[in-house]
Amino acid sequence: MYFMPAEYPPWQAKGRDFRFPVVIVGGGAVGLTLALALARLGVSALVIEDDNRVCDGSRALGMARRTLDIWDHLGVGSRIAAKGVSWVGGRTYYRDKTILEFTLPKEDAYRFPPLLNIQQCYVEQYLVDEITGSGGIEIAWQTRFAGLEQDTDSVSVEIETADGARRVQADYVVACDGARSSVRRVCGLQMEGNSYSAEYLIVDIQLQSKSKIERRAWFDPPSNAGSTVLMHGQPDNIWRVDFQMRDDESIEDALRPDALRERVARHLAAIGEPATFEIVWATTYRAHSRVLSDFRLGRVFFAGDAAHMFPIFGIRGLNSGTEDAFNLAWKLSLALRGGATDQLLDSYSAERLYAARQNMTLANRAADFMTPPTRGKRLMRDAVLSLAVSEQAVRPIVHPRQATLISLYGSYLNSVFEPEADDGPLRAGDVLPNIELRDGHHPSSLCRWLGCDFTLVADGRHLDVGWRDRVKKLLEGGNLTLLTIGRGFGGAPSSIADPDHSVRRMLGLEDSWGLLVRPDHHIAARVRLTGGPELERALLTAQGIR
Ligand SMILES: Cc1cc2nc3c(=O)[nH]c(=O)nc-3n(C[C@H](O)[C@H](O)[C@H](O)COP(=O)(O)OP(=O)(O)OC[C@H]3O[C@@H](n4cnc5c(N)ncnc54)[C@H](O)[C@@H]3O)c2cc1C
Repeated sequence: MYFMPAEYPPWQAKGRDFRFPVVIVGGGAVGLTLALALARLGVSALVIEDDNRVCDGSRALGMARRTLDIWDHLGVGSRIAAKGVSWVGGRTYYRDKTILEFTLPKEDAYRFPPLLNIQQCYVEQYLVDEITGSGGIEIAWQTRFAGLEQDTDSVSVEIETADGARRVQADYVVACDGARSSVRRVCGLQMEGNSYSAEYLIVDIQLQSKSKIERRAWFDPPSNAGSTVLMHGQPDNIWRVDFQMRDDESIEDALRPDALRERVARHLAAIGEPATFEIVWATTYRAHSRVLSDFRLGRVFFAGDAAHMFPIFGIRGLNSGTEDAFNLAWKLSLALRGGATDQLLDSYSAERLYAARQNMTLANRAADFMTPPTRGKRLMRDAVLSLAVSEQAVRPIVHPRQATLISLYGSYLNSVFEPEADDGPLRAGDVLPNIELRDGHHPSSLCRWLGCDFTLVADGRHLDVGWRDRVKKLLEGGNLTLLTIGRGFGGAPSSIADPDHSVRRMLGLEDSWGLLVRPDHHIAARVRLTGGPELERALLTAQGIR
């Protein structure tokens, strides 16, 4: 195997303190990201994980820029980026013809590329390593969640440990226990949505290839007539090949080692790759498109696959789960410090459910194209593919829709005080871009300059004398920090020089505009720094206090 995960002994429950502010059920990518985000906010948590190691195989492999930015803020972005490989673009084929070639934009202004390929197992291991070095978080390996009861003050969680059954008290519980969530079942919750009938055979192979790291998709290729094949490059010369199974094929037969090898060899021969490869991992997959109608049940929250499942073709599962974790962490932290309203905690569900529904619509579109669920949709898809061979205008329709940034424009935590606030490059609901800073700044990316609280990002020149005392008062209030761009302000600790004004232009900070940025880097308000009470009001609204 190219990846040898560390193995962890069973959690020793004897003599432990059985009260934790937060209990996270499930130490997958989402639970681990949440744990690290809580640790950065000074909140201790217990992660309950059934397994003795991180996940197998590649599973999620395409990490979106926003996900990388979150991990960067949590201190693991550089390690993940150093291991991962960037996408350059993709190609789509119909039968033996190329019908689309696209290149992902090269955007040097940002810290990370739009998409980076890295196996999920690496990401999880790096998160565990970082958590282990951070303090405040305990991972209870080989410990199984068995049940819970909650009242108005706390949650009592039943766990099965190596020492037998135990109970842990928590202020809040977050279910990050994946698609088959036991927490969801115990709470009697059902997801809404549907499942696709098409089955996929997913194979990781080790192959020395000179091909570019791009997403290649073959529809009805001669080597696998009637099906769809996808291929992605990953670190360590690992290539992921996804084969759609035809209705007349049996998945059990396809998984037999000789059949698996023969199928991969046939595909590689057809695309001109030398057929010396090793199969390192194989699994089967069926697309599901399901979501809970609420991600909160009292003191219990749902995140990642426990809350929503999307078809993998839009690479949105892990990516959106990471955003769930980052959205929830600061709200729980405020609640534990006694500063969160019920409205703030509810906003987690409102915001992430909105994002999940957007993701679901987009991922379904991708899945409908990859594996048309009805005869009508298949006829339509095939017509588009065959037209795309000769018609340039049709080609954008076959462009795969990958994870996209979802802005929270409709969130009730946002404030918009005047129509012009929406005219800038960024507005309330958008995510602050993680701009790569030149001129020898350390840290060298914008989001690493943000702390754990709300941040006012402004050009120091605009905080004039009239503002000085008010901003100081707000800063002393404890929930707000100040990051100035261009010129410092009073004793503000953080200031980024911006000699060519490029950062201010990208953020839209001219004409006295400032950005109120939440701890999860969403913009809560774009306010004019001209002396009115907007900033104070926006800060209260962003905390669910109206
Ligand atoms: C083949 C494949 C390819 C994918 N490709 C992509 C992609 O490219 N991009 C993308 O964004 N997403 C992709 N996904 C989806 C992605 O893998 C999931 O969305 C992601 O793993 C969800 O993370 P999670 O932490 O919510 O759940 P999981 O990763 O499933 O983690 C849940 C954890 O909970 C633990 N657990 C479960 N029950 C219990 C219990 N009772 N007690 C204690 N612990 C428990 C499990 O052991 C596990 O560690 C892919 C998925 C698959 C299967």
